[in-house]
Amino acid sequence: PVIVKGKDKVGKQVSFSDVAGLDEAKLEIMEFVDFLKNPKRYEKLGAKIPRGALLVGPPGTGKTLLAKATAGEANVPFFSMSGSDFIEMFVGVGPARVRDLFQQARSQAPCIVFIDEIDAVGRARGRGGFSGGNDERENTLNALLVEMDGFSATSGVVVLAGTNRADILDKALLRPGRFDRQVLIDKPDIRGRYQIFMVHLKNIKLAVEPETVAKQLASLTPGFAGADIANICNEGALIAARNGRKSVEIVDFEAATDRVLGGIEKKNRVIS
Ligand code: ATP
Repeated sequence: PVIVKGKDKVGKQVSFSDVAGLDEAKLEIMEFVDFLKNPKRYEKLGAKIPRGALLVGPPGTGKTLLAKATAGEANVPFFSMSGSDFIEMFVGVGPARVRDLFQQARSQAPCIVFIDEIDAVGRARGRGGFSGGNDERENTLNALLVEMDGFSATSGVVVLAGTNRADILDKALLRPGRFDRQVLIDKPDIRGRYQIFMVHLKNIKLAVEPETVAKQLASLTPGFAGADIANICNEGALIAARNGRKSVEIVDFEAATDRVLGGIEKKNRVIS
């Protein structure tokens, strides 16, 4: 499988300025950035840097984005894989993928490995809930634990993982030397939503000042995650284009908000 995603699709480095809000999370993750940039400074003092951190929060709140931006800030390669990619029909594929991922990462250290949806592999063992392939999942989890223990604290591989359910994870994953830090990534409040709108309105041709649009939309969108906001900005532009406008107006974003809200409600209905 293709694992390396050093840069995003257009080859642009993602930096903290692409991540709106999440000030506390950025502050916590800065420790890893500093370590990846100056490993010697830590080694000299005998300091053991945490091996990894869990980014915990609801879907679409920017966990992947923050992990990518951490790599961008430290200017190191970014390897990413989703927990569900490890789980395959065929026995042995999951553990092999874990080993491959870490082998590649070690050869390019210092670097960041990001595992999205870690709960797909990291759910507490012996609880079932996964239709078939449970042993395979446990073997994959064991392979992950072995890999995380297998490199020294100074090998320069930082492992970040995203989940929206830290409570269902196997406790073995949370032990010191593994994911011993948790960074909370919550849905944005009105100020956060304003900032996320400002980021995503940057490249859109607007009829009025971005501040005005962002302020109005932020108050219309309680409960929306960053991904929904990015969606509204793009949908708004699509609606304006379809209507043959020269620039995007607030009514276009309002229509887009309704549409995105419809999508969210549909998703919730499927889940519940
Ligand atoms: P999931 O749990 O579903 O994997 P996630 O938390 O990893 O979601 P991302 O994939 O990082 O979410 O976010 C999706 C997109 O939403 C980002 O690529 C970005 O465009 C937008 N986004 C989310 N949060 C923010 C934010 N804080 N600032 C700017 N953009 C954001």
